[in-house]
Formats: sequence, structure tokens, C-alpha cells
Amino acid sequence: MAGRSDGEGGRRPHGRIVTQALVAGSTIGIIGGGQLGRMLAMAAARLGYRTIILEPQADCPAAQTANRQIAAAYDDRAALAELAAACDVVTYEFENVPVEAAKFLAAAVPVHPPARALEVAQDRLAEKTFLNGIGISTADFRPVDNDRDLAAALAAFGGSGILKTRRMGYDGKGQRVFREFAGDVAGIFDAMGGVPLILESFVSFEREISVIAARGADGASAAYDPAENIHRAGILHTSTVPASIRPDTAKAAVEAAFAILRALDYVGVIGVELFVLPDGSILSNEIAPRVHNSGHWTEAACAVSQFEQHIRAVAGLPLGDTRRHSDCLMENLIGDDVLRAEALLAEPDLVLHLYGKSEVRPGRKMGHFTRLKPRGI
Ligand code: AMP
Repeated sequence: MAGRSDGEGGRRPHGRIVTQALVAGSTIGIIGGGQLGRMLAMAAARLGYRTIILEPQADCPAAQTANRQIAAAYDDRAALAELAAACDVVTYEFENVPVEAAKFLAAAVPVHPPARALEVAQDRLAEKTFLNGIGISTADFRPVDNDRDLAAALAAFGGSGILKTRRMGYDGKGQRVFREFAGDVAGIFDAMGGVPLILESFVSFEREISVIAARGADGASAAYDPAENIHRAGILHTSTVPASIRPDTAKAAVEAAFAILRALDYVGVIGVELFVLPDGSILSNEIAPRVHNSGHWTEAACAVSQFEQHIRAVAGLPLGDTRRHSDCLMENLIGDDVLRAEALLAEPDLVLHLYGKSEVRPGRKMGHFTRLKPRGI
């Protein structure tokens, strides 16, 4: 059920300043040099735009397909000023862009998505509080700032839950699982790094899905069909579309994504990760204010990929069609999996994408592929 919505409540929002679309040859700045930046730069080039990557690491995946790299830290004021002066709009490809850097840039050049989206996505407590505040359910949660908070939160959740760092955690990093724990919590807060934590109640989900949605500069929104995601060792392994979910679950997931986009006055693509419970209801796990790994299938199964969609949104162009022409399975190539590339190339109806990383490391995302199947009903 790929969906569209023409702005707030189905109408053009009043009083919104609709930005002019960027003309061909304009320059888009991208903060972050990973594979997401690489695929954004490729999509931008196809629409006639130039790209500049701000990334400290030399010869990063994104710089290989962009026009230029500014090799500096993400919070380097001189580099940010240089980026702002050289670009017509700036976006980013990861959610841990320093909020101060986004705000500094925004004083000089349009920045999409808004800094507020970074603030919400960077802190699991702010994120869950925001989601609950706009009527989207999440796992129960308690902030944990010492061992005493942890003991109280575990008692409230019957001894089970997942303890996570509030900031800088991703792909299951910085997490500890408790199952019917009745032991002593002394020292656990320090063992987690002595940083602010959050305990989430354990969700017995039936499956995990995600929605990739976008909002344009004119307030119109569009979403791809939800993908069903399987993780291995905390890292996304496969995304399958369509997900095995009921139509009302898919509708609720897309509506949740649209509500988040509206509440943040967002421009660009967002990834919303959700748990599906056995009764078909959904809880949001987290939001990623950027293109998302579970949306890579769109480059193979849709006329307009999530990368082009994001570039369209930040460039002020109309959003593209989100319907898929094929069913599909996307699989990540992690570490040595990349050795399968040559065999995969021999398969029909398979789209391979490698990220140009010369060094193979365990756990490193080296590429992905999407296997297409004729679309079911
Ligand atoms: P995260 O780092 O929050 O994306 O979590 C990584 C993975 O851990 C998720 O994709 C889930 O498979 C699992 N997970 C996270 N939070 C919970 C929870 N509250 N209950 C059960 N499983 C969870």
C-alpha cells in the first residue's frame, strides 16, 4: 500500500514558503561519506546536480561518486562555512551529525531535514517521548542515570528489558539484555560507560518492519510499502517486500511515518523502524532522519529509489512514484559476504550494488543485492 498524501489533511498547507526547485548544475552538500552518501550522490548526478561531501576520511565511499570532498571533521566551523558557501542546499546521510553543525549551516544555506529531526533521533529518550507525544506507541521506557534507577526500572518491568545508551547507539551496539533478572545491579551503570541510559521493556514482537517515507518542500508526503526486516548480530540482514502483514497494519505504519514527518515539518526521506505485535498492532522502535538500509530495495524494485526521492525533496522537486513494479528481497553483503559478488552477478533479476570499500572487515557493510520477483497481487 504505497501511499501519498497531499500535505496536511489532504490540502496544501497555508502560509508555507514553497522553495523553488534547484536548477540543473546546482550543488548539494552531503555531510557524511558512507555508502548512503555515495548512493545519494549518484542519484543527484542523474538529476543533473553536483555534490560535495563533508567527511574527514579520505577516499570515502561517497567521495568516489561525488564531485568534491571537503576532508574535515563534521563540526569544523571553517569547513562548514566553506560547504555552505559552495552549496545551494545541504543534507546529511547519518543521524549523528552534530546538531550545532546543522544549526550553524542553516544560518547560511537551507538544510534538510531540519536540525530538530537530528535532536529527536540522537537521543532515545527524546525520541520515544516525541513519538508518544504525537500518539505513536513505543516500548515502555525509563531513563537510567545510575544503578538505583536501573533497579527501579527493572522492578517495574518484571526483571526483563533492554538497557541501551541514550546516544550514539546503533546496530545493537551499547546494549544489554535482561531476562527475569533478580540479581544485583551494582556496577552495571559504570560498566555501560557511565553515560545516560534508557531501559526499554522487552517487546515480544512477531516481526520487524520499516517504512521509508518522504515529505517534499510543498508538504506532500509519499511512502514506499513497508519492508519486513531480519537482523543478524544486531545488523540488518534482509529486507523483504511485501512484508507479511495485514493491510491495516501496513496502513497504520505508513500513517505513523506521515505523522512523524508532519510533526517535524520535515523535508527529505525518513526511515521508521517498527515492531509488529501478534495482534497486528505496531510499536515504533526508532526513526532515522535519512535514507535507510531497509530501503535499498527501492533502487531495484521502484522507478524512483529512496535516494532519488531524498534528492527530489531537498532540491524542491516533486516527489516521485513510490509504487514497486516487483516483489523483492534485499540482502546486505557484510564482511566476507562480498566474495559472493561474482556468483551473484550471474543470477537473473538480481541487482548488485558494491560500495567501493577496499578493505574487508568483519561486520562492515560492503554492498547489497536485491533479488526481484514478479509482483504478486
Ligand atoms: P536498536 O539498536 O534499537 O535498533 O535495536 C536493535 C535490535 O534489537 C532491534 O532491531 C530489535 O531486533 C531488538 N530490540 C531493540 N529494542 C527492543 C525491545 N525493546 N524489545 C525487543 N527487542 C528489541
